[in-house]
Amino acid sequence: MPRPIHATIHTEALRHNLGHARAAATDARVWAVVKANAYGHGIAHAFEGLRAADGFALLDLDEAQALRDLGWRGPILLLEGVFEQRDLELCSRLDLWHTVHCEQQIDMLSQHKTNVAQRVFLKMNSGMNRLGFAPHSYRSAWTRLSALPQVDEISLMAHFSDADGPKGIAQQMQVFQHFTQDLPGERSLSNSAAILRHCAAAEVRADWVRAGIALYGSAPDFPQHSAADWNLHPAMTLSTKIIGTQDLVAGDSVGYGSSFVAENPMTIGIAACGYADGYPRLCPTGTPILVDGLRTRTLGRVSMDMIGVDLTPLQLAGSPAGVGSEVTLWGRAAKGAVLAIDEVAHAAGTIGYELMCALTARVPVNAD
Ligand SMILES: *Cc1c(COP(=O)(O)O)cnc(C)c1O
Repeated sequence: MPRPIHATIHTEALRHNLGHARAAATDARVWAVVKANAYGHGIAHAFEGLRAADGFALLDLDEAQALRDLGWRGPILLLEGVFEQRDLELCSRLDLWHTVHCEQQIDMLSQHKTNVAQRVFLKMNSGMNRLGFAPHSYRSAWTRLSALPQVDEISLMAHFSDADGPKGIAQQMQVFQHFTQDLPGERSLSNSAAILRHCAAAEVRADWVRAGIALYGSAPDFPQHSAADWNLHPAMTLSTKIIGTQDLVAGDSVGYGSSFVAENPMTIGIAACGYADGYPRLCPTGTPILVDGLRTRTLGRVSMDMIGVDLTPLQLAGSPAGVGSEVTLWGRAAKGAVLAIDEVAHAAGTIGYELMCALTARVPVNAD
């Protein structure tokens, strides 16, 4: 038997979450963001659940190729645009739309030999200071682009730094509105946090929204809101089994560094999952975990391939667990109970995004 750890991608949850993002941004078209191997879910699995999207947005050219190979003929947007001149040939061949965020990319376009003009998304740096033209040079970039025979339609785009938090989006909206006034073209501004929190306003929804994390069933603003609060369903379950048990007496410790010491006699289980699977080593004793669908806690340090779990709550519930019992690291247990990936991420001091993306290659991923 193979090692029991595996990830399951829930196609129906992806469908549900996409429908939910669409409803939150009525009459906007939805880019399903599938960068980073669809946030660790796998491009092919994600595609299956997200076919109803209006387009797919990503960064890697080989992921764009993979989508075309899967039969997707609709829009694909490169969120960071091209990295070198010859990428434009692939854009022409695969009919990719691409972001233009710096002068060098306009230079490359001007050198590109093509008969078919390309659709571009011109990115403004409206305050995040990552990619994009400064607001005061945006219009001249637009003018330069629009004069190129290689360029077809120009859409306008920016990205919010604080859609998930107290600072909000007002200031960046104002900058974007001010410097794009009377420029023609479709607009795209909102990520998942803006879709869920700010898309009541038509100018925030604009023409296209870019939904990422919400599609995968994680809350962009945890712990203020949970995925359940937003009616999002987990799209990934990471599960394994108990492969050993130990009966401890008071004073016994668990794992490297003896960081957990039992105060009373107790039975613990050892689950086949560790940091080499992508489970964060930073998860401390007490991180929530499900055994046979019941909520309990991890014990001691996460090692490379294993983690200790407290079986006491199962004994108290009259359903003792042992070798072979199902362990849910995050997602949905066989009996239906859900452990939000955001809770586990929070225990490790990070966000759901990072955990999804950090699943390692040795974990088999299947769709249901
Ligand atoms: C990743 C990304 C998104 C999606 O962000 P989420 O927070 O996952 O919804 C949207 N826009 C751009 C430019 C991105 O890079």
